[in-house]
Amino acid sequence: MKFSLNKASACCTTPQKEGAHDCCVPQPKEKASCPQCGAHAKGVPTVTLTHLLTEDAKATLSSLEGFHYCKTHSCEVVYFRGEEILTQKDLTVTVGLKEAVSPATLCYCFDWTKEKIAEELRQTGKTSALEDIKAKMENPGCSCEILNPSGGCCLGDVTAAIKKLQIVS
Ligand SMILES: [Zn+2]
Repeated sequence: MKFSLNKASACCTTPQKEGAHDCCVPQPKEKASCPQCGAHAKGVPTVTLTHLLTEDAKATLSSLEGFHYCKTHSCEVVYFRGEEILTQKDLTVTVGLKEAVSPATLCYCFDWTKEKIAEELRQTGKTSALEDIKAKMENPGCSCEILNPSGGCCLGDVTAAIKKLQIVS
């Protein structure tokens, strides 16, 4: 599948404070707690849901506004709005952060999976994932808000996954 990456939306290249990676699209500010696991969750831009929900899921919803994204590994909830929940079956992409998912995609723009990073670590002891993603954010630019289920930049997730894999290996 080929996506056209629009340079104009390459806002991840804007310098951000350390640790602040939610740079692609201003995400809705208010936080909410997942009705299933209770974790705090960030809001998701409407455009993310427009691109990633199945037609069936969209048909059951009155609107796509006001959803939050639960990133808890063991929680089946992907998006929620109050008590309304959406899970993996409602999405057209696999949510790599959830457990028992394969391939466990971390970077949807440039196709980095946990499996690919683990393989690099096994073969060479290190991974080029972060350098590769950062370089490609500059050129051609990323489209996290329509490709990544979180609706935001993947760098935090990739960094966390590498740390975990390094502990395991
Ligand atoms: Zn949850």
